[in-house]
Amino acid sequence: MPEDGEDGARFAGVAESLAAIRRSIARAEAEAGRPSGSVTLVAVSKTVPAEGLAAALAAGQRVFGENRVQEAKAKWPAKRADHPDLELHLIGPLQTNKAGDAVGLFDCIESLDRPKLAKALASEMRRQGRVLDVYVQVNTGDEAQKAGIAPAEADRLIGQARDLGLKVEGLMCIPPLEDDPAPHFALLAEIARRNGLAKLSMGMSGDYEAAIAAGATHVRIGTAIFGARG
Ligand SMILES: *Cc1c(COP(=O)(O)O)cnc(C)c1O
Repeated sequence: MPEDGEDGARFAGVAESLAAIRRSIARAEAEAGRPSGSVTLVAVSKTVPAEGLAAALAAGQRVFGENRVQEAKAKWPAKRADHPDLELHLIGPLQTNKAGDAVGLFDCIESLDRPKLAKALASEMRRQGRVLDVYVQVNTGDEAQKAGIAPAEADRLIGQARDLGLKVEGLMCIPPLEDDPAPHFALLAEIARRNGLAKLSMGMSGDYEAAIAAGATHVRIGTAIFGARG
């Protein structure tokens, strides 16, 4: 863990990186013939300490993605007072026993991937009187070790989640590292289209322009903003 002073230096470039990414998002929107502002930048702040969050907030960033409930719980609640417009997305796998914490903390769950979790989220949202946006994570590469519902089972899970009263708004995917991501983005877009879902969370630091060309409404970018994770 670096000392505070080193973190200060480490995150000195965050505002500039954010500005550069916003410019390339705008360029990719234009090239795809999509309206300016149709893509939301989700700044992935997993493992990023307070100094990095402060730098991004100071640069006007308000939408953040975290992949662990416990880490997010330690980092974000205190920031809500100063930034009521903060929007937190859970982008990592969620255990059902943490559904309560997740519902209390996040605004959007991007990683719904099984019926049991849909049930837990629905009952926690009822209990807490909160309505979160939910995205179904699709394992577009059918990878054994990867989270997400298999593409062949996605329609059924979307239906089950809707039947439970969840506000299913979109889909999320993480293409296999070694693949050309474009076919995976196209598959996600097709599953969204046939299910009437408007939101597509796809594209990371290395491939967000391709994702925007394929219709991404949310790109999840960590490294290109905050630098390599230690
Ligand atoms: C870490 C992570 C990202 C960000 O990846 P970068 O390559 O650092 O931009 C995006 N999505 C998910 C689900 C992640 O876990």
